[in-house]
Amino acid sequence: PISDAANAANLIFNTLDADMNVHGHSLRVTASLGIALQKTPRTLSVATLIRNADSALSHAKSAGTTNYRLYDAAMRREVRQRMEIQDGLRTAMESGQLHMAYQPIVTLADRRIIGAEALLRWTHLERGPISPAEFIPIAESSGLIVPIGQWVMQTACSTMAPLHAECGVYIAVNISVRQLNGDLFAGWVEDVLAHTGLASDALVVEVTESALMDDIGVARSAFHRLRSQGVRVSIDDFGTGYSSLARLQRLPVDVIKLDRAFVTDLDKRPEAQAMAAAILHVSRAIGAQIVAEGIETEEEAAVLAGIGYTVAQGYLFGRPMPIESLRVCLGAAKGLERGLSTVA
Ligand code: C2E
Ligand code: CA
Ligand code: CA
Repeated sequence: PISDAANAANLIFNTLDADMNVHGHSLRVTASLGIALQKTPRTLSVATLIRNADSALSHAKSAGTTNYRLYDAAMRREVRQRMEIQDGLRTAMESGQLHMAYQPIVTLADRRIIGAEALLRWTHLERGPISPAEFIPIAESSGLIVPIGQWVMQTACSTMAPLHAECGVYIAVNISVRQLNGDLFAGWVEDVLAHTGLASDALVVEVTESALMDDIGVARSAFHRLRSQGVRVSIDDFGTGYSSLARLQRLPVDVIKLDRAFVTDLDKRPEAQAMAAAILHVSRAIGAQIVAEGIETEEEAAVLAGIGYTVAQGYLFGRPMPIESLRVCLGAAKGLERGLSTVA
């Protein structure tokens, strides 16, 4: 029964909870435990039981040390959902359930669109739209991010090549660290640019700060190669990933994206304003451009402009949209300019 398992867990914790003397140093060991049980008749295989215990263990670990967790129905649902998403993603690419949305990146002063971020969208046949925040982590842990990321890069570059030629807008593409394997990735990007005809200076590759710091060696060499080809590299969600400033200094970057956490209600939060100003200084110190993300209100935009920000992205200026809509936005802006110059 469950109480036996709990007693066993506590016995293990108590046994470990004693100072051990190792070469004159007093050490203490902590543990996390995952427990999986099965009722009679025993229908689960040993492999399944171990997998269940492993799921429970990862829940115990994320709750802190000296914890045990029992595998339960909620974990079973979570695992099943993960498996469903993983299986679904495999077919999503071939069956046309994936598509790209493009969100405008604008100048704060005159709201001119200077670029767009490519954001992946998945419309599941039964479940409807699934957020990338939900399926990207699963794509990453299953390795599916590599073929999906290739599709994203190819689609974004070929879609944006004519728009760049016409309007000069650049395209920012999100990349998972799992896709960065040194020179191979940069070489592959070079091929995509050659095939799609997109100019290398029209491409910005975005990698999240937290992922970068986990694997900085791989990122550094890939970034060097990309930049030598004229592609710009960007640190996404900046300010949330515990960057060491010393490491940041040695990482070649062109663009920093200020995370939305610093932008939301900026006008009402002096401490967030101070952080936004400090991060602007950091970006200048390392010679990078800065883009503020997630601007939803005029008040937030005004405060950012006051601090010295010049480029921004957010629902206030445009939601992620189909490429046809972005084309209309760009066309409309151009039409307006033409109209104004005729008047002048
Ligand atoms: P991200 O790269 O930080 O992208 C910005 C996210 O913020 C997008 O969410 C966008 O829709 C949302 N957003 C933009 N403006 C606003 C705003 O004013 N307010 C609010 N509340 N949200 C705003 P989305 O599209 O759901 O994407 C979530 C994350 O999934 C992305 O965050 C990115 O990390 C990842 N992702 C999306 N597409 C790809 C992809 O093709 N490859 C990889 N590796 N990751 C992707
Ligand atoms: Ca991004
Ligand atoms: Ca971001």
